[in-house]
Amino acid sequence: MLKDLRINNSLSGKKELFEPLHAPFVGMYVCGPTVYSDVHLGNVRTFVSFDVIYRYLMHLGYKVRYVRNITDVGHLVNDADSGEDKIGKKAKLENIEPMEVVQRYTQDFHLVMEQFNALAPSIEPSATGHILEQIELIQVLLEKGLAYEVNGSVYFDVNAYQVDHDYGKLSGRKIEELLSNTRALDGQDEKRNSVDFALWKSAEGTDHIMRWNSPWGEGFPGWHLECTVMGTKYLGKSFDIHGGGMDLKFPHHECEMAQSIGAHEQDPVKYWLHTNMLTVNGQKMSKSLNNSFLPHELFSGDHELLERPYSPMTVRFFMLQSHYASTLDFSNDALLAAHKGYRKLINGLKTLRKLKGTGVEAEPNEKAIQQINQICDNCYRAMNDDFNTALTIGHLFNLLKKINNLQTQNLTIEEIGEETYERMKMTYETFVLEVLGLKEESNVDIEGLMDILIQEYAVAKEEKNYDKVDALRSSLKTQGIVLKDMKTGIDWAYEE
Ligand code: AMP
Ligand code: ZN
Repeated sequence: MLKDLRINNSLSGKKELFEPLHAPFVGMYVCGPTVYSDVHLGNVRTFVSFDVIYRYLMHLGYKVRYVRNITDVGHLVNDADSGEDKIGKKAKLENIEPMEVVQRYTQDFHLVMEQFNALAPSIEPSATGHILEQIELIQVLLEKGLAYEVNGSVYFDVNAYQVDHDYGKLSGRKIEELLSNTRALDGQDEKRNSVDFALWKSAEGTDHIMRWNSPWGEGFPGWHLECTVMGTKYLGKSFDIHGGGMDLKFPHHECEMAQSIGAHEQDPVKYWLHTNMLTVNGQKMSKSLNNSFLPHELFSGDHELLERPYSPMTVRFFMLQSHYASTLDFSNDALLAAHKGYRKLINGLKTLRKLKGTGVEAEPNEKAIQQINQICDNCYRAMNDDFNTALTIGHLFNLLKKINNLQTQNLTIEEIGEETYERMKMTYETFVLEVLGLKEESNVDIEGLMDILIQEYAVAKEEKNYDKVDALRSSLKTQGIVLKDMKTGIDWAYEE
C-alpha cells in the first residue's frame, strides 16, 4: 500500500499509478539550466521540486538514474529560432570565451544547488558535449522525410510529422491553430511553415561564435534537440519521467516529443511532470520581467522587498509548503512564516535526539498509538499523492505535536511502547532530512556551546543571582534562542 504512488501525468492530464518501465530501475530526465546568468529563485523552485521527487523515489527503494543537463548552446534569445544565442551574447558583451560564461554559471549553479541541499544528478551532460549525436539524429529525421534543409539550416517538418502523428499532444494545442497563428513571423521565411522548428541553424555569414562543422556547413544545433539526444543516450528511447517547468511544455517538450517519436517511432516518456511557476505579486519570476530574486539577495536580505535575510533551508521549506504543480507567490510575509515553520520542524529533530523514557511502567495508550501510526501512514499517503509535500509537512507538524507531548511528559514512551516510538522517530527524521531534504543550519557546535551556557545559567539560578539569569536569557534571545525550565531539567530551543 505504501508504495502505491500516483503521479499526475501532463500527457494524459490524469493521476496515474506509477509503474516504472523496468522496475526497480527508474530513468528521470529534467531540463537543466541555460548557463548564461545566475539562476534565480524560480529556477531553484523547479530544481528543488525534482530533487524531492528524486529523493522520494529512492526512499521507496527505486534505483533512479537522474539526468539533468546543462544547456550551453542553442538556446536563443526569445526562446525562438531566430536571434542571438544567450551564451554567445553574454560572451560578446563581456569579451570572453563562451565556455568561460558556461564554466562560471555552471559553477554558480552547482553552488546554489548545494546551498539548497539539492542532490547532484547521476549524470549531468551538456549540449556541446553531444554535437555528434545531435547531427546523427538530424540525419535520421532527414532520411525519414521529417526534416528538410534550407541554406545550411535544417528544420523539423511539422506537416510531414502530422501525417502519422499528433503534434500538440502534450501541450493540448491544436495543430490547425498553430499553423494559422504563426504563418508570417519575421526572419522565419526559410521555413516551409512557421510552426516548423530548427534542428540545425547555419552560422555561415554570421558572427555567431559557437559553431561546428556539419554535413550542412558550419552551424549549431537547435535548442530542443539536445534533450532528445541526451535523454535517449543515457536513459533509452523510452524512459519513465521527464520533467521541467510548466513554461517548457510548449514548445520545448512538444518538440522534443516530436523529434523522438519521429526518429524512434515510440513514445519517449511515460510520465511528463511539470512544475508550476514561482511568482512575485502574481507575475512569473523571470529575468526578462526584471522581478527575479537571486539566492544571494535572499541570504543577505539585500532586496527592497525583503525585511530581513532568509537562509537557504527557510527558502527550501517555503517552496515545499506548496505542491509543485501549484503556483507559489513569493513575499516577505510568506518567508517569515516559513522561517518559523522550518525552525519548528528542526526543533522536533532536536527534541527527538534527547527524548528518553521515564522509567515508569505504564499501560499502553491505545488511542495515542493508533494516532501516531495513522500520522506516519499519512506522510506516505501524501507523498504518494503526486508528491504532495504541502500535505506531508502538515502531517509532520501533527507528528511534532506528539513529539512535544513526549518532551513535556504529557505522553510517555512507555505508554506508546518502543515499537511505535521508533516508528515515529524514524518517520519524522526520514521525512524531514531524507525526503524533504531539510537540514539543520549551523556551522558551529551549537549543542556544545549551549551546554556550557546552560551550566552557567543553572549555577546562577541556584545562587539566586537573578540579574545574571535575566542577562543570560536576554542575550540568548537576541541570538534567537530561548531557554526552557522544565520538569526534566533545563533545555533550549530556537525561538519560534
Ligand atoms: P532556464 O535556465 O531558463 O532554461 O530554466 C531552467 C528551469 O527553470 C526550467 O525548467 C524552467 O521551466 C524553470 N523556471 C524558469 N522560471 C521559473 C519560475 N518563475 N518558477 C519556476 N520554474 C521556473
Ligand atoms: Zn530540455
